[in-house]
Amino acid sequence: MNKFCQSCGMPMKSDPGHGGTEADGSKTDEYCSYCYVNGAFMQPEMTAQEMQAFCIEKMKEQGMPKFVGWLFTRSIPKLRRWHTA
Ligand SMILES: [Zn+2]
Repeated sequence: MNKFCQSCGMPMKSDPGHGGTEADGSKTDEYCSYCYVNGAFMQPEMTAQEMQAFCIEKMKEQGMPKFVGWLFTRSIPKLRRWHTA
């Protein structure tokens, strides 16, 4: 059981979809419902750096200072999605 999405780092308990979905419709706790739908990533071309910038932008929209956004997202490049060759 993952506590955090292995793509964007969001806490799984904050995911309104309670996890992504595989191609057969089953749930996965590897990735959240924003990142992974029907067995595929929503933004397959995204790099870890782009994902980090995207999440900081999302948090900024919710009133989070950029520095705090950076703190929350700095571990994104270490997540499993970005470690496959
Ligand atoms: Zn995610």
